[in-house]
Amino acid sequence: PIGDEHEESFMVYIEFVSRIADDRLNGLYLDYYVEPTSQEKRFLSTTLFAPNHARKAFPCFDSPGFKATFDISIGRKVSSNFTSISNMPISHSVPIPELTGWVFDVFKQTPPLPTYIVALITTDFSFRSIKSGEFEFRLYAPAHLLQRTKQLNTTVRERNKAQNPYLLQDPLLFIADMLESFQFLTGLGSYPMPKLDVIALPHFFFNAMENMGAITFKYPVILNVEGTTTTSELLRLNYVAGHEITHQWFGNMLTPKSWTYVWLKESFSDFLGALYLSQKSGINFDEIFANQELQKAMRFDAGANTHPLENHIKSAATVADIYTDIPYRKGASIIYMISNFLSKEVFHQGLQSLFDAKKFSNIDQYDLFEILEQKQKENSILASQGLPNVTVKDILNSWTQKSGYPIVRVRRDGSNLVLTQEKFKNGLLIELQTRDVNDTESKNDVDSEELFWWIPITIADGMGKNSVHWLHPNSGETIINNTVQGKFHSIKRVPLGYFRVLYSNDNLQRILKNLKHFYTKEELGAYYHPEISTERDSSFLKPVERSQIRRSADE
Ligand SMILES: [Zn+2]
Repeated sequence: PIGDEHEESFMVYIEFVSRIADDRLNGLYLDYYVEPTSQEKRFLSTTLFAPNHARKAFPCFDSPGFKATFDISIGRKVSSNFTSISNMPISHSVPIPELTGWVFDVFKQTPPLPTYIVALITTDFSFRSIKSGEFEFRLYAPAHLLQRTKQLNTTVRERNKAQNPYLLQDPLLFIADMLESFQFLTGLGSYPMPKLDVIALPHFFFNAMENMGAITFKYPVILNVEGTTTTSELLRLNYVAGHEITHQWFGNMLTPKSWTYVWLKESFSDFLGALYLSQKSGINFDEIFANQELQKAMRFDAGANTHPLENHIKSAATVADIYTDIPYRKGASIIYMISNFLSKEVFHQGLQSLFDAKKFSNIDQYDLFEILEQKQKENSILASQGLPNVTVKDILNSWTQKSGYPIVRVRRDGSNLVLTQEKFKNGLLIELQTRDVNDTESKNDVDSEELFWWIPITIADGMGKNSVHWLHPNSGETIINNTVQGKFHSIKRVPLGYFRVLYSNDNLQRILKNLKHFYTKEELGAYYHPEISTERDSSFLKPVERSQIRRSADE
């Protein structure tokens, strides 16, 4: 009762009936596949609750800020060969008194979960499994497809034998491997559920959905086919699976307070998905990251339809608009930038503290910034980079509260480098995107806002030393002293920064000359295997740098 000082609890009982929908791919809905021998349609019921479709299946506070434990029971006919799957394992089955020949599969209680990762599935799929002690990992799919994945070779490539990386082809093996690798790679604690099911669905709105303990995938995103799935597709499968596994920690355990902060879960999942793929394939992380994340994000973010990372949603009806390149790819690029200027060690300490303090509860971006601030202070990171009075929050607000990114102009002045920034816009893209929009006002008119960023610039001196310098948001020019004249200097594109660089004419001429040079196998070999190269040309542009420069020129 309102005004009562004493806290009281009420048990609310709501009777609610909802049909299994056959006209949409969200909420609780019907799906089917065709069994190849009999040509019969086989039906299954499944769920997709993200972002706000759980309300179609049961009454709830359908927002990530609310977490609850769930006690779920699914009814099924005993004589059918259907199985019930949910987030937790089945505890026991009980007959349904009013329905002869039917039982309820009663699941164990879940840990506190937001509604969007609850799952309820009833299907005649078969499964294969791996057991490790009490823990069981299962892959569910129609029997004929499941059989095919079993015949796959395990190893497809050994690119660098010294590190012995390999990509597993069998999805059962690579997901089990990822789950183990994640715990080892991040040190963020063990996977908290007693089982993990992966279910391959015939039709699905997304590529995959990270339901806690019951991850759903669209068929081709998880089931590869020998002789048909290309290496590039296999890389993609590993990447998506790595993303969903990461969500078991980022999103499922550490949940955004609202969809405004959805980037907190998507960015880490993209970032760690790429890291996993790099480790397993032996492909350079920056090459994966530049192509999969950074360049795609920067293209979207320079157009008319972009929005800030901190994305205030106006109503439940527009929540689906959150899924753009911004929370995923821009978010991952900003995470990478943070881990570079703070150092990987300090960044990691911050994440560990965040998990210790907030596991199974909710966070917004300011919880992350605050903990990173504590860690950077303890390690005097920003002070040592010339920013004793600037906080992590100051820096990251400039990247998360507004859309777009800067272009940095670089010119030489004697032995100094002079840097200035302005907002980068892709005029052609904006024109194409707004041509058919009737209102003359641009959707994201931010010209009146304060437009500048705190930009960490890594300068390579050509002799193997890098240093971090900061472009301040409110000063016109930043001057970097003491560069050694005559040597090749570059604003280092690796680690990859979320900005474009416009070089002065003389620097550009050197870069052009370099780009026109066709590298020999030996020269590239020296890049990929620096340990065997005798002397490296300091003006050598790595493949990822060439790709970045070309992309900047295109846009
Ligand atoms: Zn995701």
